[in-house]
Amino acid sequence: MTDPIGIGTTGLVMNEPLIFERSSEEKRGLIIPKSDVGDARPEDVIPADLLRTDIEGFPEVSEVDVVRHFTRLSQWNYGVDTGFYPLGSCTMKYNPKVNEDIARLPGFARTHPYQPESLSQGALQLMYDLERYLAEISGMDAVTLQPAAGAQGELCGMLMIASYFAHTGKPRKKVIIPDTAHGTNPASVTLAGLTAVPVKTGNEGILTPDAVRAVMDEDTAGIMITNPNTLGLFERSIKEIAGIVHEKGGFVYCDGANMNALLGIARLGEMGVDVVHMNLHKTFSTPHGGGGPGAGPVGVKKELEPFLPVPRVIKKEAGHFLEYNRQDSIGRLRAFYGNFGVLVRAYAYIRAMGPEGLKKAGEMAVLNANYVKEGLRSHYHLPYDQPCLHEAVFTDKIQAEKEVHTIDIAKRLMDYGFHPPTVYFPLVVHDAIMIEPTESEDKAGLDSFIDAMKRIAEEEPELVKGAPHKTRVGRLDEAKAARKPVLRWGSSAKG
Ligand SMILES: *Cc1c(COP(=O)(O)O)cnc(C)c1O
Repeated sequence: MTDPIGIGTTGLVMNEPLIFERSSEEKRGLIIPKSDVGDARPEDVIPADLLRTDIEGFPEVSEVDVVRHFTRLSQWNYGVDTGFYPLGSCTMKYNPKVNEDIARLPGFARTHPYQPESLSQGALQLMYDLERYLAEISGMDAVTLQPAAGAQGELCGMLMIASYFAHTGKPRKKVIIPDTAHGTNPASVTLAGLTAVPVKTGNEGILTPDAVRAVMDEDTAGIMITNPNTLGLFERSIKEIAGIVHEKGGFVYCDGANMNALLGIARLGEMGVDVVHMNLHKTFSTPHGGGGPGAGPVGVKKELEPFLPVPRVIKKEAGHFLEYNRQDSIGRLRAFYGNFGVLVRAYAYIRAMGPEGLKKAGEMAVLNANYVKEGLRSHYHLPYDQPCLHEAVFTDKIQAEKEVHTIDIAKRLMDYGFHPPTVYFPLVVHDAIMIEPTESEDKAGLDSFIDAMKRIAEEEPELVKGAPHKTRVGRLDEAKAARKPVLRWGSSAKG
């Protein structure tokens, strides 16, 4: 067997104390020459309220100390730039670095939100065009770029739907949500003042029209569905389900957080979806999981367009403008116009990929997920054994006979240099292992991962249950770690 791509798991792993512990008296990062215009002390020139006096034992360190400290800490991290990151329902893919450069062009990065429209024409045009591209990709009529994340997009959608019914004079309260849904779905419904009505997924891992028919009524504002769903399966009955919901006057909301599999291949608008959010930080080139901002634009069909948040970007002969005066709008969702830097990346990505490139990304995402699924089927149990879309869900059923569980497999993967997949989600699958390779992994990377997973399946149970063995910190007692966190590196950290 070839050696798996083990990065940072063997060899030189640096220890690093807290920066306070690196301190020694009189060490300096930078020594400024003595001033030849008098001996001003900081307190003479800096206003008292800007001077910090409250850090006891402020570390005294050299520049070398500082650079090594933070560089080492950064190396303890794991990201898409380090290696394979197969978190399911998360789309942790590698994104072209050129889009980072484009977002940093001074004309974009230094645009001020209070700049007059006449001086923001480029930015407004970019937003206008991006709205059109996303509408085209999802099959919707209009898009808002304002929501700062997927969950805020969901809230936006729910507020618009609630507003629609409030305008008809017959408010509706209930929203149907399948049991495979991402946790943000019921949370957003509740935040919008609506009530989630759960519906069970059918035996094949998808919703059945009958299950929806049984709960859909004229007090129900609509359904919130994820397609492909969190089992990585295409909701094949979506059109029929949409028909059932529409017949009773409801709306179909689609959680399009992970859109990879549909890009350029299928359009939600043509499946009966009325509202959808798309996560630019998953599908459209903003790095995901780095703690930075994201964006969850929302697309709607004509009927809901009047309810979109303000301001809207509109195009007239004289240029692009922001429109605030829209009577039925749900109002502002956040300050200004959305996370503009994220929008620039998405725009650049879509323009660079073009329709063919996006389609290829979608096809590769699906191919990669199915490749992993087929590669592992001999060793891991597949609860829904059918072709998948962007992700594949396994369980620990075979390993559990030897008392090896999902958590152990996930931890052991770290010894092989891989970030673990999503585990124990979706909740409908007992002890789920959910793998989303994304389109950005090549065959060699996928083969190494499959190889590692198979080796783990063949290893001694004791070895797997004690994992990880090669990481800086061993298996934590998670309950104890939450109650009594040890934040200091030291003797107690290993094991
Ligand atoms: C990530 C995700 C969300 C939430 O998106 P955020 O940007 O994290 O708020 C919602 N639904 C699904 C299916 C997701 O994968």
